[in-house]
Amino acid sequence: MQRQWESVIGLEVHLQLKTKTKVWCGCDADYDNDLPNTHTCPICLGHPGALPKLNKKVVEYAIKGALALNCQINKESSFDRKNYFYPDTPKNYQITQFDKSYAEKGFLEFKLKNGKGKKVGITKMQIEEDAGKSIHTAHESLINFNRASIPLIEIISDPDMRSSEEAYEYLNTLKSIVKYTGISDVSMELGSLRCDANISVMEKGSTKFGTRVEVKNLNSFKAVARAIDYEIGRQISALENNEEVYQETRLWNEELQITNVMRSKEEAMDYRYFPEPDLLKLVITDGEIETIKITMPETKVHRTERFLNDYGIPEYDAGILCEDIELSNYFEEVSKYSSNPKAGANWILGDVFRILKEKDISIEKFPMSPETLGKIIKLIDNGTISSKIAKDLFEKKLVDDREPEVIVREDGMIQVTDRGAIEDIINEVLKNNIKMVEDYKAADDGRKPRVLKGLIGQVMKISKGKANPNLVTEIIEEKLK
Ligand SMILES: [Zn+2]
Repeated sequence: MQRQWESVIGLEVHLQLKTKTKVWCGCDADYDNDLPNTHTCPICLGHPGALPKLNKKVVEYAIKGALALNCQINKESSFDRKNYFYPDTPKNYQITQFDKSYAEKGFLEFKLKNGKGKKVGITKMQIEEDAGKSIHTAHESLINFNRASIPLIEIISDPDMRSSEEAYEYLNTLKSIVKYTGISDVSMELGSLRCDANISVMEKGSTKFGTRVEVKNLNSFKAVARAIDYEIGRQISALENNEEVYQETRLWNEELQITNVMRSKEEAMDYRYFPEPDLLKLVITDGEIETIKITMPETKVHRTERFLNDYGIPEYDAGILCEDIELSNYFEEVSKYSSNPKAGANWILGDVFRILKEKDISIEKFPMSPETLGKIIKLIDNGTISSKIAKDLFEKKLVDDREPEVIVREDGMIQVTDRGAIEDIINEVLKNNIKMVEDYKAADDGRKPRVLKGLIGQVMKISKGKANPNLVTEIIEEKLK
């Protein structure tokens, strides 16, 4: 009988916190567009005698993240040194939380494509510091320490996931929830979210996990999913050929869509962890946790409920819009300008989504401001343009700098509401479609609307979509009586 396999996946996610200053010093943490090595000081460069001091804002942000991920906050935790040499680590060690982390035992819940719910445990969350960045050119290697000691939280999941889909949804859910807290950009593209995957394979039904391989260099959630699928396949085929799966760290090769060995996996003891002597224990009081709870921003669940109650949009729409805080902000802005939330939701879930997908961009990069989309909706609602013309206006506005009202006026898109003008077109259509008219008269009530729709279509075509559809329907129905 063929052996059956089961994969076991755990994820380690690093999030950069969006505090103003670094974790142990006063250096400005917003280094993105600045020259290399301009956001540094003796502390983050590891000069002799320089002492770290924990940034209070980092603790506040870290607690917000832990609460959002349903973690228990530990009243007392401590910092440790993880010792290793790497050129971008000026102290030759990283300050992290090894022995006792500030938060643990959380969980994330999400739904899979088949509708089934999934709950993944979070083992622990720890506060630590980022490393600098090495840049390798053809002839030299450069180091930029601007990123050194940027605050991070590491979120370690339990090995609860069994497929790449579960890992993918775990990451999407984590991103969506944490983004609502405002503590991080949570963007893999910007480097503020990084993820390593631990993958092993065991015989189905076994309770003993197989040998774990860690995969790094994952640059998108899709890459995480593909690397997991690749690794599962590679490990199964090794086991079926009676080969050994080695405990090692592998790198995802995006170009070849495979993983390659980077190094044999080190054990925790190789890092000679020991308590950080320059930092006090981290003490978090109930009072502090309560204060932070009060200042937590609106969660996804609350916003979804508010959208249902305040805007009266369908539950399904509210759910999709609130999946991404930026998308839900966009919707709220559109509604502010259009005063028609239902239309706003329809436009976003229809035409806006289509373009985001076509261009493979997120709503932040969408080329139309919510104000403009709101104005287009208003032009339909006040009868200036037909909804059919609105589609053309929408497409035009994506590449046209003129205000929507100006395009409508200058490009002759204004809706025809003149009864006489519409009647002229209708008379012509009825005269040229005698068969359809007879068909309509002979049709039963069930079929009548369909024939009518055909005639209305003809009128709209001749008017180039500009005739007011309500008026067209009204006049045709009158004439056919
Ligand atoms: Zn510094």
